[in-house]
Amino acid sequence: MDYKSDIGYRKETLKKLLYNIQKSEDLIIQALYDDFKKPEFEAVVTETHYVISDLKNTIKNISSWAKSKRVFPSLLNFPSSDYIYKEPYGDVLIIAPWNYPFQLALCPLIAAVAAGNKVSLKPSELTPHTSAIIAKIIEKTFHINHVEVFEGGIEVSNKLLAQRWDYIFFTGSIAVGKIVAKAAAENLTPITLELGGKNPCIVDETADLKLAAKRIVWGKFINAGQTCIAPDYILVQKNMKVNFISYLIEEIIKAYGKKIDKSPDFARIINIKNWYRLTNMIHGEHILFGGESDANKLYIAPTLLEDPDLDSPVMKEEIFGPILPILTYENQNDIENVVSRYEKPLSFYIFSENNSFAKKLISKYSFGGGCINDTVIHFSNKRLPFGGVGHSGMGAYHGQRSFDTFSHHKAIVKKGNWIDLPMRYAPYKDKLASIKRILDWL
Ligand code: NAD
Repeated sequence: MDYKSDIGYRKETLKKLLYNIQKSEDLIIQALYDDFKKPEFEAVVTETHYVISDLKNTIKNISSWAKSKRVFPSLLNFPSSDYIYKEPYGDVLIIAPWNYPFQLALCPLIAAVAAGNKVSLKPSELTPHTSAIIAKIIEKTFHINHVEVFEGGIEVSNKLLAQRWDYIFFTGSIAVGKIVAKAAAENLTPITLELGGKNPCIVDETADLKLAAKRIVWGKFINAGQTCIAPDYILVQKNMKVNFISYLIEEIIKAYGKKIDKSPDFARIINIKNWYRLTNMIHGEHILFGGESDANKLYIAPTLLEDPDLDSPVMKEEIFGPILPILTYENQNDIENVVSRYEKPLSFYIFSENNSFAKKLISKYSFGGGCINDTVIHFSNKRLPFGGVGHSGMGAYHGQRSFDTFSHHKAIVKKGNWIDLPMRYAPYKDKLASIKRILDWL
């Protein structure tokens, strides 16, 4: 078992993982349903098939990603050939959240294994069915000294964080991200933090309102709004507000019917604690649509709120549920007044046909990533980096970047011996002018 230096071995274990996931796909979908009634379509598209496609892409490219790369040498070092070697970090800890519990545990794991690391994975305790099936699949696929799953909650997480690691990859809340960063700092362990934030969604008067409503409803209410990159709140240009709200309502009904609690396409809230947190956000607000909830079924309807106070609970923290506040703006100062209240978000969405307006907002605000005229879909392009900035996270992954995230890039200069230019050596007398000329020329 030489996972560190044998690319063939890594590839074989990943192929075995692919086989075991494909064989268990129905059980994974069932586990996701048992955990929070994730609809089958969403389970396949955002979890099982997403992971399968990531695995296939990794298996196909692992040899070329792992290869050392020759780079153009510096003339200062003439004669030399220069390389970047990719080296596994070593012992890697991955801590995953509950909202896409299969994908967000498996995708980092696949990359860490591909890059040659030993992996310890802690899935979320809030999705016990999915965590159990992940543990089973991993046990069947890998030697325990190569990849191991640690099921459990905060205690398990804290025990793992108290150990020394060569890399930590964490996906979850900002508050726990800070705990992870502190633990990592003890040993100067490098980290990736994939966190959350309050993601603005701006809709201006030039936008195709009907299409915007359709794409926002999809991106907001998929997974019952429990998506880190879901639009958190809408800022719509004031003169468009009435039309836009009627389109939003129309699209919600088109997607989930009039009896949304009976729809097989709408997930449930993860637990009662979050149900209370979310229903408290609706309480006392002006409800434009929805608002119904049922604690026994952990159900909260897709809910539109009109102009909540910026100091109200719903505008204080990341919503992470099926509640969509709709605020209005008249000019860019109004946008600034809202957006600048919050830390740098994970995503930012602009619906507009006005290119220069969209570009202006993109360059003005700092955020992880986003879309013009759509929501969420930037996540699906493996050629785009996925990650936050500031409080929404640090580091990024997806595609080859995932492999690179779990690899140390070692710089090597292989110097030729057939000539040894004397310029750099002491005594320095009379050498400064010519070395300056070379430095200026480079
Ligand atoms: P969380 O931070 O509560 O939990 C994440 C993981 O940390 C879990 O495995 C949990 O067991 C562990 N944990 C929880 N409390 C801990 C503590 N005190 N000490 C040590 N470990 C602890 O997050 P969550 O509720 O599972 O997920 C929701 C959050 O994650 C949201 O803020 C969302 O925006 C964010 N998120 C971000 C991404 C992303 O890719 N950026 C993806 C999904 C979710």
